[in-house]
Amino acid sequence: MVRGLLLWAAGNPRLERTITENPILGRATHRFIAGERLDEALEAAAQLNAHGIGGILDLLGEGVTDLEGANKAVEQYLEAAEAIATRGLDATISIKLSQLAQTVDRNACVANLGRILDRAQELGVPVEIDMEDSSLVPDTLEHYREAAARHPQVRVAIQAMLRRTPLDLEGLASLKPRVRLVKGAYAEPVELAEQGKKDVTAQYKFLTDWLFEFGGDPAFGTHDDELIAYAASAAGKVGKGPRDYEIQMLYGIRRDLQEKLARDGHRVRVYIPFGSAWYPYFMRRMAERPANLRFFLRALAGH
Ligand SMILES: Cc1cc2nc3c(=O)[nH]c(=O)nc-3n(C[C@H](O)[C@H](O)[C@H](O)COP(=O)(O)OP(=O)(O)OC[C@H]3O[C@@H](n4cnc5c(N)ncnc54)[C@H](O)[C@@H]3O)c2cc1C
Repeated sequence: MVRGLLLWAAGNPRLERTITENPILGRATHRFIAGERLDEALEAAAQLNAHGIGGILDLLGEGVTDLEGANKAVEQYLEAAEAIATRGLDATISIKLSQLAQTVDRNACVANLGRILDRAQELGVPVEIDMEDSSLVPDTLEHYREAAARHPQVRVAIQAMLRRTPLDLEGLASLKPRVRLVKGAYAEPVELAEQGKKDVTAQYKFLTDWLFEFGGDPAFGTHDDELIAYAASAAGKVGKGPRDYEIQMLYGIRRDLQEKLARDGHRVRVYIPFGSAWYPYFMRRMAERPANLRFFLRALAGH
């Protein structure tokens, strides 16, 4: 119930205004967000790199409502890619298509994504596409299919909780899709998505096996010990080792485990959000672990 309430709050613009205007709460986000500026995200990536961990830079912001907002996001992503290349960092960039005008003008979104993919390829910076709520899944997969035809290195996030996902992956099999497999962070109705941990875990494991057989360079975006162990054993079953797949985690979550996995020889990459539009991202992190609310409430109380 708390999860549902927090996910509802994540999409509520009035609450967003009230909460983001409070400077104390802005500071409380630092556990999960590298900072408002690009250089703070680059510094976070450099620190992770020093521990043998790659970065995934994510400019916060989603659901832009005009082309101007989308253009701004494109410029900021291009700047991020340039900076990653200039500093020689091991980092990718990850994009939400709703930030590139997906729901405003599809052609503009194609062009925006194309600009980022072309320049990032020239710079040697890999690009990943986040997956948003179920209303955007079919179109996001279509964008991925079109993008992968020209840029086979692009990776797309796929949500294990959605009932449609096994069929979606079958439909992409001929591309040998490069996937970041995640459980799914959005509130979805029971007709569309598994709701219980046991069922989501079962589907995640099934899809893990599928990716080792039919996908390209699979990535597992999870902090769940059981699923990380499962990926290792699924890799072993097909004669692959810890360098043949990637474990991805979120900035500020299970840092000890991130470093331990890297020390043990795994390929680990951490998703580093930056920017001022932190509210929906932050609220989804609260929803995943309502115990996090303690930090939030402590900040509110001034401690
Ligand atoms: C790199 C990466 C990229 C992602 N991209 C997307 C995307 O594009 N689209 C999408 O829908 N979802 C995305 N997600 C989110 C994902 O769908 C899950 O909501 C999130 O990862 C929590 O699920 P879990 O697999 O970590 O398992 P859980 O069962 O939620 O967590 C396992 C353990 O990890 C720790 N943990 C997990 N979350 C938190 C938290 N918020 N705070 C503190 N501890 C926590 C706890 O110890 C918990 O017991 C992404 C996740 C990662 C790691």
